[in-house]
Amino acid sequence: MLTIHMTLKVFMSVDMEGISSIVSGAQTGRDPGEYQKGRALMVGDVNAAVEGVLGLGEAEIVVSDAHGGMTNIPPEDLHEAAVLVRGTPKPLTQMAGIGAGFDAAAFIGYHSRKGTLHGILSHTISGSAIESVVINGMEVGETAINAAIAGYYGVPLVFVAGDAAVCAEARELIPNLRTAAVKEAVSRTAAKCLHPRRAGELIRGGMREALEHREEVKPFTFKPPVEIEVRYTNARMADAVEFMPSAERIDGKGIRFVQEDYLKAFGALRASIYIASAVSR
Ligand SMILES: [Zn+2]
Repeated sequence: MLTIHMTLKVFMSVDMEGISSIVSGAQTGRDPGEYQKGRALMVGDVNAAVEGVLGLGEAEIVVSDAHGGMTNIPPEDLHEAAVLVRGTPKPLTQMAGIGAGFDAAAFIGYHSRKGTLHGILSHTISGSAIESVVINGMEVGETAINAAIAGYYGVPLVFVAGDAAVCAEARELIPNLRTAAVKEAVSRTAAKCLHPRRAGELIRGGMREALEHREEVKPFTFKPPVEIEVRYTNARMADAVEFMPSAERIDGKGIRFVQEDYLKAFGALRASIYIASAVSR
């Protein structure tokens, strides 16, 4: 058999609520001082994941900042081996930078879907606009929504780091993926947290192991036609979203989008959140 040396190509989407030791909105942006500490913790978890990849040899690594305004990761503190995608709005949002040709995807700092019992800062894309998202009959969070974007390009999601709740959500969704639980919630805004250095060790080892076993994980996809049912937090939001040509009103707070192409359905979901947020008050 011919052995060809190939550079590993890994994509990372990095959110903030699931970063080690983060337990409240103050650390993810609400409080200026606490936010700076949150950013430092964030880059610590990301760099551990990058080191996990590099443990296997040469690699091309794209890190996509996936929280809020998407300029949270301090570029100068990020591991030099990674290329950073930052800023918003942009196509694919939290998954910007992914495409065909990546060997694997990893989610760092991810959180569970809205309403999860003991999920740190649980929400689905927008806490203020979205009550729930159901795709092809299954209630989903950001892990499934974004894993399906990787899957659209044939890329398997092999690793998730975050709190214990998002790790369980991911394992239920995708057989054989590896996880690193850096904290265990005792309420939505309180958790038992590993020391950030211990969390880093867990992420480093987990990332490496996940890549070693990447052949065992299938790309996650939704079968077309893709039906997305969104419940907004109030009927005024659904009234505004209903103006979208592809929107079908279900009831007071519910809208349905059906598309053959998953990225078109995802685009409708994201556009609807901008619309809903614009009329939230
Ligand atoms: Zn976030």
